Amino acid sequence: LVDTSRCVDGCTACVAACNKENGLSGQNGPDDSQWIRKVELKEKSTGRTLSLPVMCQHCGEPPCVDVCPTGASFKRADGIVLVDRHLCIGCRYCLAACPYDARSFNWTTPYYPPEAEAHPYSPEEPWPTPKGVAMKCMFCAHRAREGQLPECATGCPMGAIYFGNENEDAVTNGFGETLPFRKTLQNQGGFRWKEELGTDPRVYYLPARR
Ligand code: SF4
Repeated sequence: LVDTSRCVDGCTACVAACNKENGLSGQNGPDDSQWIRKVELKEKSTGRTLSLPVMCQHCGEPPCVDVCPTGASFKRADGIVLVDRHLCIGCRYCLAACPYDARSFNWTTPYYPPEAEAHPYSPEEPWPTPKGVAMKCMFCAHRAREGQLPECATGCPMGAIYFGNENEDAVTNGFGETLPFRKTLQNQGGFRWKEELGTDPRVYYLPARR
């Protein structure tokens, strides 16, 4: 859950925290090194700009999984969508299918810091990734396994990003503030991006209130 009224200046600290956690150096270009990015929307009536942090939406009906010919893209039972680089043949159908532009492709061998190069790979901790495979946000599945928040949530200095198990109906931000999930969505006009496409995105946004 992203509270856009807290993401007031779009500082991109969430991007930096994500890059650091996932061994993304930021040296591979602006697109292929960001698993979360800032999208700017302009409000028609006021002309005011709204910052929307966008990561993989971990769709309930993920088109990227539907089009993947090898099963490299898959959805776990808990809803997290992952990519197995060992099965990825680099066809990039998933990049074309994703309406959120959430995936990137390693056109070249990415630069990783030495500690990331030495890291043992798994789809939950998908670094280092070689040339020729697709990659994206995995909701910090490795941290969720340990009961921790994703790095974007921890790294947000405004507490704008919340995370939680939808079945527990509670989400928590990096300040340790917990909100009742469904009630907050109802009371504050929560919305999902491009919901009309039928992808059932699992990232929710609260509109700006100030
Ligand atoms: Fe797949 Fe894109 Fe949905 Fe993520 S946002 S699950 S990459 S279609």
